[in-house]
Amino acid sequence: MGVSKGHTVQAIQNYCDAGLFNYGENRIDEAESKFSLLKEDYSKIHLHMIGPIQTNKAAHVVRLCDTIHTLDRPKLAVSLVKEMEKMGKQLPCYIQINIGEEPQKSGVLPAHADTFIQECQKIYQLPIVGVMCIPPLNEASAPYFALTRQIALRNGLNQLSMGMSHDYSEAVRYGATIVRVGTALFGKREST
Ligand SMILES: *Cc1c(COP(=O)(O)O)cnc(C)c1O
Repeated sequence: MGVSKGHTVQAIQNYCDAGLFNYGENRIDEAESKFSLLKEDYSKIHLHMIGPIQTNKAAHVVRLCDTIHTLDRPKLAVSLVKEMEKMGKQLPCYIQINIGEEPQKSGVLPAHADTFIQECQKIYQLPIVGVMCIPPLNEASAPYFALTRQIALRNGLNQLSMGMSHDYSEAVRYGATIVRVGTALFGKREST
């Protein structure tokens, strides 16, 4: 996917015209301001939510987005289920793993991943398709990609959302099925 956060509608349109239709945004407000209209013009757009989701924004996310990459806690699962039922939608979800166990990052800890995945499937009956990770900055990503892949495999999930501009080729080597590439496509962002 092209990660279009911090970039203009015009820049996104240029990539749509070139045939790229998968986009990722990390803030729902920004996503709405750009994609509500874009999605009317380009029916093929598939929008991925790749940033932290506040439960009070769940309705907005379910209304606009097509896939969620950042499901990481029971309270959010409950809100998403409620909104999906209301809107008659079933959005594929990835469980975000805090693979480097970093206090400032969101995501479920690796040790709690299996339990949370099963809870999402059995209790909340959400369509869990895979796992997502953001390895620690300034460290080799490969070991974290390998760990993330193991979590997916042992839970019978076959989608892996991993890899950004600096490490997407490595991610693909470790089995990524979707990479999230921003800077390498759109250039530098003003802010993240
Ligand atoms: C911004 C962002 C990306 C893209 O990062 P780049 O380094 O610009 O490719 C990927 N994933 C997430 C979750 C992001 O927030």
